[in-house]
Amino acid sequence: MSQIIDGKAISEKLRGELKVHAAEFERAHGRKIGLAVVMVGENPASEIYITNKTVACETVGINSFTHNLGKDSTAAQIVALIEKLNTAPEVDGILVQLPLPEHLDEREILKHIDPAKDVDGFHAVNAGALLLGMDCLAACTPAGCVQLIKSTGVDLAGKHAVVVGRSNIVGKPVAILLLHENCTVTITHSRTKGLAELTRMADILVVAVGQKHFITGDMIRPGAIVVDVGINREDGKVYGDVDFAAAEKVAGFITPVPGGVGPMTITMLLANTVKAAKSRAN
Ligand code: NDP
Repeated sequence: MSQIIDGKAISEKLRGELKVHAAEFERAHGRKIGLAVVMVGENPASEIYITNKTVACETVGINSFTHNLGKDSTAAQIVALIEKLNTAPEVDGILVQLPLPEHLDEREILKHIDPAKDVDGFHAVNAGALLLGMDCLAACTPAGCVQLIKSTGVDLAGKHAVVVGRSNIVGKPVAILLLHENCTVTITHSRTKGLAELTRMADILVVAVGQKHFITGDMIRPGAIVVDVGINREDGKVYGDVDFAAAEKVAGFITPVPGGVGPMTITMLLANTVKAAKSRAN
């Protein structure tokens, strides 16, 4: 049986530390740290995420400002709001909730966020700095995955990490972060041949595919650290990309869904917002 990596408990501990930093900032600068959230149109899942983020902000003492724009908003209207937020002194971080309505090009819009306020870490400046191993605002989910892996206490140097999925927001950045931890990294995707042979070689397996129970127990090396990023909603329930019941019999450590990567993603968003505020203040 594996040990469960409790993302909720690890998040709560980190949020306690961030609360202290946020209070120190408020004492030093006479204002709270601020996060602006931009929501375009209506999307039930996004609304849940935004509520979770604003509640999390409150618990650590960060102000959140939510801006709701209509579903037919033009790129120019959204960019105008972003540019206003870029110069707003009370705003330290800007987050544009994705996905945007189909008529909008996400990349074209996100590039207007000031990289110093890009707390999602999606701007090319931050993604490039991450690649180069420079100080930056790292993408939240990948940073959260690495914190969860480190929480096991396992020495990561030389471990074979296999990442399933190569998206710009999860797969690629998590692979880079694991490379910076001196893992030997294999990135896999939908064109990969012999996926199961590769996943069975993984000391660390990070899965970000978006398909319920995509990774079965026989695809996991006994004793491996398994991090399940997937969020798949079905019949009002949330399932991961890993078949948890089968995987926990094989893995050494495993993150549950829910209660694994999800809470850490929000905690890393708060951490990035605190970091952005401190950098701006300096
Ligand atoms: P994307 O759809 O952008 O990427 C999915 C990746 O999976 C692609 O790289 C794709 O390969 C790969 N893939 C698809 N089919 C296969 C296959 N048969 N074998 C190997 N690889 C395959 O998803 P995201 O990275 O944005 O998200 C992945 C999951 O993580 C989703 O469930 C999402 O909801 C969840 N998520 C959770 C977060 C959290 O906070 N917990 C945050 C962000 C995402 P290819 O590139 O070749 O198409």
